[in-house]
Amino acid sequence: MTERTEPGFDALHPPSRELLDDCVHCGFCLPTCPTYQLWGEEMDSPRGRIYLMDLAERGEIELQGAFTEHIDACLGCMACVTACPSGVQYNRLLEATRPQIERNVERSRSDRLFRSGIFALFPYRRRLRAAAIFGLAYQKLRLNRLAERVLPPRLRATQALMPPVKLRNAFASLPRRVKPDGPVQRRVAMLSGCVQDVFFHEVNVATQRVLAAEGCEVLTPRDQGCCGALGLHAGREDHATKHAKRTIETFEKLPVDNIVVNVAGCGSSMKEYADLLADDPEWAERAKAFSAKVRDVTELLAELEPRAKRHPVKAKAAYHDACHLGHAQGVRAQPRAVLRTIPGLDVVDLPEAELCCGSAGIYNMVQPEPAAELGERKASNIRAVNPDLLVTANPGCLLQIGRYLDGDIPMFHPVQVLDASLRGRPLP
Ligand code: SF4
Ligand code: SF4
Repeated sequence: MTERTEPGFDALHPPSRELLDDCVHCGFCLPTCPTYQLWGEEMDSPRGRIYLMDLAERGEIELQGAFTEHIDACLGCMACVTACPSGVQYNRLLEATRPQIERNVERSRSDRLFRSGIFALFPYRRRLRAAAIFGLAYQKLRLNRLAERVLPPRLRATQALMPPVKLRNAFASLPRRVKPDGPVQRRVAMLSGCVQDVFFHEVNVATQRVLAAEGCEVLTPRDQGCCGALGLHAGREDHATKHAKRTIETFEKLPVDNIVVNVAGCGSSMKEYADLLADDPEWAERAKAFSAKVRDVTELLAELEPRAKRHPVKAKAAYHDACHLGHAQGVRAQPRAVLRTIPGLDVVDLPEAELCCGSAGIYNMVQPEPAAELGERKASNIRAVNPDLLVTANPGCLLQIGRYLDGDIPMFHPVQVLDASLRGRPLP
């Protein structure tokens, strides 16, 4: 890649003038923007970033330098989309801007290598399993203490996110078909994910069990891979497109009503395949049909008539809205409604609930300092409501918040809490 020398965007899908002009510069989005909260800097607010995109679209500023720094600092949390009274689609603006940076801006060698390392590891289950073996040895030898002293900030942050590794789970495979005991209410196919399946395999097991108990037949194809979410949110269009096509190919041949996903970031990108592939004549209709079937697991459970008996779970559960579920997909009521079907469970909201925890895809690895401040802030907001457990629907949030709660409060995906209630067993 060569660095672009002319100012402004290239001609390949730049942010559209129409979308840019929707912003009336009112500033209502500023208080909900995590980076504006941290630094109080206009160019690190949604309004400032839209202004920068506007200047770049007019060819008045270069992409390298300050432009890239302010866009890189954005978490892509979409709190500004929720807050904006004018309906500005910052999500679409950002998703058009990031590929421009990836194509046209030459990053430093270390930045390039670090980002390439992330994309060579996280979307691939086999490589993640190999990393899990290394991680287990690393944790047993307590090398993290040494790492805290010697590693540079990005690597230090990345190793600190590693959850306790259970090799049995990392290498376990899910049954391909799980049937309900009674009549089938819905036929669904499940995305098992990359990080989710290797480090949070028990969440996938709970998802299959809960869906079957509620009357779903669940198909989990073995030949599925990464859905492309990390690439889509980081501006790596080729990566996102390749994995989106492969995911569509795998799932479209299955005779199912819905494609269910228990990872907020993956669900949000799978619902965006229709936009991602809109210009591809071979894929546009297939992507549209695929996206229309995608449901977060809590969305699907809220659509179904509860069928299985719930046993009490006597606990106070703080619910954290993952940004890619709440802000990006507008799924806020459903997880709370599902949790409230459990007798004895007191579901409470967090102060500053709209603020990102700092996870944001690869953000906590590439921008460790602001991510750490946001992680500490989220942990202190969680402690403020004094819960028995924290519930959230995204592995990235579980890893990030887990780091800053430091084992003080147990954490679960909503389906794990429902699974414990349906089975009448204590939470794991
Ligand atoms: S993005 Fe929306 S809320 Fe923010 S300044 Fe523009 S119009 Fe106002
Ligand atoms: S996506 Fe999040 S971090 Fe980025 S401008 Fe919007 S509110 Fe701020």
